[in-house]
Amino acid sequence: MSRKILLLTAVLGSLLGQATAARPRRVGAVSLTVSVFNDAEIPISVLRTARVRAEAVFDEAGIALTWLDCGTPGHRVADIDCPAITYPTHLSVRLAKGRGHRSEDIFGVSFLDHRGQGNYASVYMTPLASSKALGVLSEGELLGYVIVHELGHLLLGKNSHSPEGVMRPVWQFEDLKKAARGTLLFTSSQVERMQARYLSASLQRSTAVSRANNGYLSPSGSPSMVGLIPPSE
Ligand SMILES: [Zn+2]
Repeated sequence: MSRKILLLTAVLGSLLGQATAARPRRVGAVSLTVSVFNDAEIPISVLRTARVRAEAVFDEAGIALTWLDCGTPGHRVADIDCPAITYPTHLSVRLAKGRGHRSEDIFGVSFLDHRGQGNYASVYMTPLASSKALGVLSEGELLGYVIVHELGHLLLGKNSHSPEGVMRPVWQFEDLKKAARGTLLFTSSQVERMQARYLSASLQRSTAVSRANNGYLSPSGSPSMVGLIPPSE
């Protein structure tokens, strides 16, 4: 197996030098809802496995993940909560088949605005389904970790790669073995950063809603697709 097995998306890919390898500790109760749009029509059994893995990693970070299966293009689920996407409490992941011009080792991308905030991530299933990593992890397990990585970008903001843990920009064989054991996690500093950013953004949002309800102008609640920082690959 080649040394450079996986290359995940980079959102301004400088590394977080202060990240540590310590096991993340639970800080507080944070609830995160994720709408999953299954455009690639992945089998439900694969999705279930991905869901279990993603929930377990976020649980270790003190984040309770609620996963909404929003269906396939021909069979969208009529769940009114699926489109109710709002940073930072409700994010979305689109499972796409893939794009021809992308490297075969790039599995996902996340989109951040100029504030380092974003609601949207995509995972590319065609390269994932043919990855050498499937010699170590099942497709569902690998999908779960890729989703965790992309959601991590949305929650951590800019420059959110680290030399250790699930936010490594390139996963080596040892990382995959950790993932198979369920020990590929966020670092302690990432857990603290995600929780702090979540609470700060939630407070700003509730303040904006309160002002709007009192007749003040409300800032834009969610970043537009204009001015996105393109992911570096
Ligand atoms: Zn990345």
